[in-house]
Amino acid sequence: MSVSDISRDVVLAAISEHDDLGSDAFAERHGFTPARGYLLVHEGKEYDPKAVAGVAHGYLPGEAPLTDAELSGALDAVVTLLRDRGFEVRPLRSPTWLEAELVLACDVVARNDWRLVRSHDPRAIDLSRLLQSLPLHPPESRGPTFRNPNSVQRKTSDIATQHPDYTGKPTRGGKLDREILHAFLERPAEMHAQADAIRAGITTGTLSALPLAADPDEEEAISEGRALLLLHLRRERNPRLRAKKLDAALAAHGCLECEVCGFDFERTYGERGTRYAEVHHVVPLHVTGATTTRLQDLAVLCANCHRMIHRGRQWLTPAELRELVEHRKAPPA
Ligand SMILES: [Zn+2]
Ligand SMILES: [Zn+2]
Repeated sequence: MSVSDISRDVVLAAISEHDDLGSDAFAERHGFTPARGYLLVHEGKEYDPKAVAGVAHGYLPGEAPLTDAELSGALDAVVTLLRDRGFEVRPLRSPTWLEAELVLACDVVARNDWRLVRSHDPRAIDLSRLLQSLPLHPPESRGPTFRNPNSVQRKTSDIATQHPDYTGKPTRGGKLDREILHAFLERPAEMHAQADAIRAGITTGTLSALPLAADPDEEEAISEGRALLLLHLRRERNPRLRAKKLDAALAAHGCLECEVCGFDFERTYGERGTRYAEVHHVVPLHVTGATTTRLQDLAVLCANCHRMIHRGRQWLTPAELRELVEHRKAPPA
């Protein structure tokens, strides 16, 4: 008995049994409690992925259906398997709002005198479109109402009702909502500039054109709500800009030494390290806007120094990191 034996054909068989019986009779016959978390979508109809997988197992030669109890705790495995077999499985709930999204929402609320923005308001509709085009959430993590104008209205209400001057009862809203709100109250100019930069990055395609990276550290950055770091790293990976910067550095110095510590990938790794270095935007996204990048805004770094620059909330400049390294090297007085 194993979930991984389930083939596409037996899933289709379970789906047609479901269609013949209707969802209530199907659930009753097999004793599954209603779906939580995910929906299997097939030819425009919705199914409980766990029930379908359990029943599908019974269509395998010599196998019995898997029960709800047998599949308890296996929902993630079921979702992965169904996707592997070419089925569309969507989460029921939309993913939590990330920092970059909240910056955009807060920006709109602040410009509306800290009042919520209704779903039919053109600003809510624009924001909804913008958020749906942001490359922060992969399509399979988006629920059916992902960042639609209603969800935008709800979020602007969460933000507006957390404002210190709001006298009524606040709606829901998370810790990150409050953090971003307070950042806007304390540093309005910087935060509005951040919002402008994210919007510019989206409209020029700078942000969305770059591939989603499967770097676990970036995942971590997202879960910490540091979406701006993700956008920054993505921008730095622009292959055309990278190539230009590396060419310029090679022409100027004849090598690709890290501007902080002097590490040279080729010197250490030989041919394997030839023409390798990381490229870092010295001026953060939210200061420049994402429209133009000058080569002198880019620094050539080794992987370690680049990580250290981005570690923590406050990014260092290469010069600051160099100072830190040199200070540590200096013999104690
Ligand atoms: Zn270095
Ligand atoms: Zn960087």
